[in-house]
Amino acid sequence: MVDVADQLETVLSQRESGASTTAVHGRVQGRRLKAGNSLVTPITQTATYTFADTADLCAFMEAKMWGADATMAERGEYGRYGNPTVRAVEKRLAALDNGDDALLYPTGMAAVTNVLLSILPSGSHVIFTDDCYRKTRQFCNTFLRRLGIESTQVPMGDYEALASAIRENTRVIISESPTNPYLRVVDLKRLVQVARRHRVKTIIDATFATPVNQRPLDLGIDLVIHSGTKYLSGHNDIMAGVVVGEAGLLHALRQSQGMLGGVIDPHAAYLLERGLKSLALRVRQQNRSAQAVAEYLEGHPKIERVWYPGLASHPDHKAAREQMAGFGGVVSFTVAPVRGEEPLDTTSRLIDAMTIPYIAPSLGGVESLIEQPALMSYYELSTEERQSIGIRDNLVRFAIGIEDTEDLIGDLDQALARI
Ligand SMILES: *Cc1c(COP(=O)(O)O)cnc(C)c1O
Repeated sequence: MVDVADQLETVLSQRESGASTTAVHGRVQGRRLKAGNSLVTPITQTATYTFADTADLCAFMEAKMWGADATMAERGEYGRYGNPTVRAVEKRLAALDNGDDALLYPTGMAAVTNVLLSILPSGSHVIFTDDCYRKTRQFCNTFLRRLGIESTQVPMGDYEALASAIRENTRVIISESPTNPYLRVVDLKRLVQVARRHRVKTIIDATFATPVNQRPLDLGIDLVIHSGTKYLSGHNDIMAGVVVGEAGLLHALRQSQGMLGGVIDPHAAYLLERGLKSLALRVRQQNRSAQAVAEYLEGHPKIERVWYPGLASHPDHKAAREQMAGFGGVVSFTVAPVRGEEPLDTTSRLIDAMTIPYIAPSLGGVESLIEQPALMSYYELSTEERQSIGIRDNLVRFAIGIEDTEDLIGDLDQALARI
């Protein structure tokens, strides 16, 4: 008699499953038993792992040194070198982004910094695009510079500038897509073309897109990074970071992680896996609401301008349509000036008049969050300094949660009526 689960395994392995199925089950379908026959991935809360006897220890060391026995090599040795709960989530994340392997870190920034520190030798050069996560830019300009690694910032969307910024010693191009806060979208195929011509590695921070909306590895990008703090975990309750890519690169990164020491806690990994199961449902709802909110705002007389890749008016709408399955849950907009009032203050009044979103940094969770970047990430700068890096005083970043679309629009409507 043919086992139903075995049959299912055969059927599903013939085609690639959708994002939601992969988010719930990972790449391997069908019957797979977990410790204690638990349905849910158990949390292995341990700092170290034991060996039955000396022969067992030596068999493991042989497997680790010479790669003889893959199953043996995957067994636990010490907490900094791996954990079964963490490993299960890494496999799920690799499947979602269609990479060979994935590596988890305790935060998104730990993922960014560990990757750059691991692959950039001293004397090398890295290119990053403007409109990128501020801490990534600061890391390049301070830490990497101190290590003798130079960096060049190129304007987003200028592929000629990108090509001419490449030098003999350039090793990496890193960019976000979509970016924060203007949701600029890199033409990934074009980026890969330019980079490959010069044998430069490409890294995309795809936090804003998630693997549900965009899979950069499928388009030839070498490494994808996500802050797992955002959509992947989705509940604003943990911090995490992940890197996904090809097996050889990931193996090297794993070795560095064992030295640098930044590993995620198994309990946080468990919560990340729990969040992942509803990733596709959440992201699709957030895509829908964000599109509706962006269209509503674009037609409102008290709004100056809206940035959302799903709008035809967005500078990268074409690239976004070609390479994304959805446009994400973040909408940025500027508030029209009110006579006799500083734009900074009019905008704050709008934010304070909203009742559903919380005022907080971050994005991607079930709760909507709203912020005025001028007062959140760029508070210490003057209006002129902010202007010079493109942060307008009347800019709002609205990170949509999973509340009902009509309620979010209703809330915006009443708040706009009050300014
Ligand atoms: C939040 C974020 C990061 C940093 O992630 P943490 O988990 O906060 O360290 C990096 N890149 C992008 C695009 C982000 O939104």
